[in-house]
Amino acid sequence: MVKNQQFNKNLLHWHRTDNKRSMPWKGEKEPYKIWLSEIILQQTRVEQGTQYFNAIVTKYPNICSLAEAQDDDVFSLWQGLGYYNRCRNMLYTARFVCTELKGQFPDTFESILSLKGVGEYTAAAIASFAFKLPRAVVDGNVIRIISRLYASDTNPYTSLGKRWYQEKAQELLSISYPDEYNQAIMDLGATVCTPANPQCDRCPVSAHCEAYASGHQQLYPPKKKKVTLKHRFFHFVLFETTKEIYAVKRTQKDIWNNLYTPYLIESDSDVPPPEMDHLGLQQIHTMQQSLSHQRIHFHFYRHPSGKLLPHTYEQLVAIPKKSISSHAFPRSILVLFKKIAYL
Ligand code: SF4
Repeated sequence: MVKNQQFNKNLLHWHRTDNKRSMPWKGEKEPYKIWLSEIILQQTRVEQGTQYFNAIVTKYPNICSLAEAQDDDVFSLWQGLGYYNRCRNMLYTARFVCTELKGQFPDTFESILSLKGVGEYTAAAIASFAFKLPRAVVDGNVIRIISRLYASDTNPYTSLGKRWYQEKAQELLSISYPDEYNQAIMDLGATVCTPANPQCDRCPVSAHCEAYASGHQQLYPPKKKKVTLKHRFFHFVLFETTKEIYAVKRTQKDIWNNLYTPYLIESDSDVPPPEMDHLGLQQIHTMQQSLSHQRIHFHFYRHPSGKLLPHTYEQLVAIPKKSISSHAFPRSILVLFKKIAYL
């Protein structure tokens, strides 16, 4: 049984004296910067997210400067981070806070949670870091620690299981120092109570850990069942002149919404679809990329230059090759542009 008071004391003491994990936004009190860092970190590791955080904060030092930015400028700063819905929601929220809330970031858990793109974890992080509100963060790191502390095989992927972890996290939270506590438990998960080989001999809460006491740390948390990947086959046709390439801005509800790509035909196999037969295309590159639930098979073809573009491709817009980098393309398309020396 975890004794909350002593558990808190040990964890906070470690945080104040021995926690060496550094991040540019650590200790930050400005809600805008905390929110921004949490949005970036939703599906990105700290090492990769740091340069993006610095670039966005330098260009847009406050929420209203971000709200007033052009979409394309922000998307091109975001380029490479993936999961572009985050960027869209970030812009929506910046504009909402700047216009509807007159630039005043909401300061209650519920109002933070109601912002677009903000879930329970992000709302708890912002509420505790910026406003010292007693809300426990629960992410993969926290779930792993709690599962080990209680030697519990409660499944965190069911709604009942999620609630159990949420309740335990809330019970353990330091009400007096929720900001430090949340940072400490996240850092403990990232540096000490790691998924493989937890360093229990230097863990500040080992005296409270049932998994450690039984020597069965590796059994916790219970493993997630493997998801079946959906395979998608994307055939891209690169229409170009000497100075321009032609691209489509994607607007459908799918990956890469609002980003540019070369003309795309999706099919159900690696074989080019029949409507490409008459185009006389030359295949220039293939690659694959795994996203969370899908595996994309890319095939890139070049359209012979000098030919008129068929009118059916009227949604194509011309982009000067020298300004490709100021347009938002998915990372995998940029890999192709680098390969064929457009970047
Ligand atoms: Fe994790 Fe080991 Fe600490 Fe338990 S004792 S919380 S398993 S690092």
